[in-house]
Amino acid sequence: MVLDKSVSERRRGEERAASSRQSAQEAPGELWDSVKKAAFVIGSGILFLAAFGNSLTWHLQRFWGASGDFWQNLWTKVHLTFQGHDAALFYLGTFFAPYFVFWVLNGLLLLVDTTGKPSFITRYRIQQDKDTPVDPTKLCQAVKTVLFNQMFISGPMVVAGYHLVSWRGDPCGPELPTFHWALMELAVFSMLEEVLFYYSHRLFHHPSLYKHYHKQHHEWTAPIGLVSIYAHPLEHVISNMLPVVIGPVLLGSHITTSSMWSCLALVSTTISHCGYHLPFLPSPEFHDFHHLRFNQCFGVFGVLDRLHGTDSKFRQTKQYERHVLLTSLTPLTQSIPDSPKKGQ
Ligand SMILES: [Zn+2]
Ligand SMILES: [Zn+2]
Repeated sequence: MVLDKSVSERRRGEERAASSRQSAQEAPGELWDSVKKAAFVIGSGILFLAAFGNSLTWHLQRFWGASGDFWQNLWTKVHLTFQGHDAALFYLGTFFAPYFVFWVLNGLLLLVDTTGKPSFITRYRIQQDKDTPVDPTKLCQAVKTVLFNQMFISGPMVVAGYHLVSWRGDPCGPELPTFHWALMELAVFSMLEEVLFYYSHRLFHHPSLYKHYHKQHHEWTAPIGLVSIYAHPLEHVISNMLPVVIGPVLLGSHITTSSMWSCLALVSTTISHCGYHLPFLPSPEFHDFHHLRFNQCFGVFGVLDRLHGTDSKFRQTKQYERHVLLTSLTPLTQSIPDSPKKGQ
C-alpha cells in the first residue's frame, strides 16, 4: 500500500514533515497537494471495497439471512404503528433516539466526572489529575451550549435533512435495506465523515477562524464526553453535523441506517472525548492528544493525519504507544508509564 515505506525512509519523511508542518500547515498549495493524495488513497479504498466487498461480507450475510426475518418483522410493526406519520418516525430515529443515547451515556460519564468516583473508572483517566472532578461553572456552561446546539442547530438540520431525503426517495419505506447495502452505506458514511471532518477541522485551526470559532471547543484541554458537541454554532454545523448528515442525504438512506449511524457517530465522538481509556472500548488517545496539543490529530480515524503527517509528533509519544484497544484491566498509564523526563 502507499503508506508502506521503509522505516528509515518514513522516519526521514516524518522529520521533514515535522519541521515544515508548523509553517506549511495552512499553505494552500500543500493543502491542495494533500487533497489530491487523499483522493487517490480514498479512491483506491472504494475500488478495493467494490472488488472484495461481496466476499468480505458473505459470511456476515449468512448470519443476517438467518435473523433477517426477525428484523424485517420488527420493522413492519414499527412501520404500521407510524403509518402516515413518516416525519415523526424520522425525527424519532435521527434526533430523539441518538440524543437519548447521548444523554444516557454522558449522564453516566458525568457522574464519574463530577464526583471523581468510582476509582475503578477514574484509574483509566488519560490526563490524570486534570479536571478531576470537573469545575461546576465550566461544566454548567458546557451543558448549556450542548443543549443549545442540539435544540437550535441539530434540530432544524434534521428537519431540513428529512425534506431532502424525502425528496430523493422514501426514507421510511416498508422494506429494510439489505445487509450488504447497509454495510456499504456505513463504510461510505465513515469515509465521508473522515474527509469532511478532517479538512473542516483543519480549516477551523486557521488562525483567522480559530479565535472566533474553534477556540471554544479547545477550552477543554482535558476533555470530557459532552465536550464532543461543546462548540460554536458555526463549528457545530460545519464540523459536527455536516460530515455525519451528508452521507445519509446523498445516498437517500433508509431511516434505520441513518438512525444507527447517528447513534454510532454520537457514541463514538463521546468516547473520543471522554478522557478515560477504558478496556474493550475504542481508544480515545488520538483526539485527547488533539485537545492537549492543538496542532496534531485532526481527523476521526487518523487516516488523513497519517497521509498529511499531522500525526508526526503524536507518533513519538507515549500516548501513541497507548493508542490501542485495551484488552486487559490494567490501565495503560500503568503498563506504559510516562518517561521520567522529556515525556512527549
Ligand atoms: Zn474535540
Ligand atoms: Zn481542534
